[in-house]
Amino acid sequence: MELSNEENLSDIEDMIRNISQLPRLLTIKPYVVYFIHRDASPSMLHEIITEAKQTERFTIVPKYKSTEYDTMSMHIELIQQTATILVSIDYSHEKDKRTLLYDTLCQFFSIIFHSSNLVQTWGGNLMHKLKPFLSHELFTINQINQCRLSDIQQEFKIWYNQTFIHQICCYHYLQYDDIDGPFCSCIYRPYKSVSAQWSLLKAVAYTFNEYLYDHTYDITKCLAITKLADVIEQQWTIQQVEEYKMKYHIAQKRAITDKGNETKENRQKVPENVVKKQKIIHTNTTTQTTTKIVLVPDPKAPSLNGIGTGPNSYKQIIR
Ligand SMILES: [Zn+2]
Repeated sequence: MELSNEENLSDIEDMIRNISQLPRLLTIKPYVVYFIHRDASPSMLHEIITEAKQTERFTIVPKYKSTEYDTMSMHIELIQQTATILVSIDYSHEKDKRTLLYDTLCQFFSIIFHSSNLVQTWGGNLMHKLKPFLSHELFTINQINQCRLSDIQQEFKIWYNQTFIHQICCYHYLQYDDIDGPFCSCIYRPYKSVSAQWSLLKAVAYTFNEYLYDHTYDITKCLAITKLADVIEQQWTIQQVEEYKMKYHIAQKRAITDKGNETKENRQKVPENVVKKQKIIHTNTTTQTTTKIVLVPDPKAPSLNGIGTGPNSYKQIIR
């Protein structure tokens, strides 16, 4: 297997061995975040229904709060052509049942689980993941069964192993079989067992050279799963993966090297030209409960041919 610009990549990657020191996850499309809970405005509840009706592909990240069995927290990404919409739901069965929020969420989930839609998640059976929330009566098992479910974690392992095949000198090199094995010596294949599953953190790091940082609202997990799903759907080749890394990260790492200043803080910085374009242009925030964050593309930002618009090059609006 040959890597384009292999020397350059390996030299620079050697300098960054800790995943948390990689550049933060870049987003491919501009996105909007809706925070949905009992204080969300009726217009916002109406908006997520409208948007869901226009969407055919979703990513779901359920969250569990061990101390609050009554509460359902969940992030759902509505993946659309030119933008993406993140809906962060907090629902209390005790406090919110038979309210407008309850009615809206019932309708919202009935739209999502329609038979024509694809619902993506990372790891495990979505049915099993949503089971703890069935008692809230926002959706049923029959509804979940209607849609097409996709476990991106499993699909990623297949795509990665077929793309980043064992090197010829690896003990596990086989012409027609790219499964993981205990004697694999390939440094770009971190898992050495057929049954081992990728963590989302490592999948993002090994594919994009990016760090899945802990966002305040944890919405980055949705964005990361969708970004990996897009790569799998488009069947990126190793050349496309390397072109992406070269385009977005090699220049940044070289700049850090040239400065001779390798503090953790500096390594995590996104390129300076991007930071300057990413500014809050409206901060008329009312309350935390009705916050909607909008990230829109900066028209001056560079685009990435064949991969998407310039990630991270967005102006941020907080309503
Ligand atoms: Zn190997």
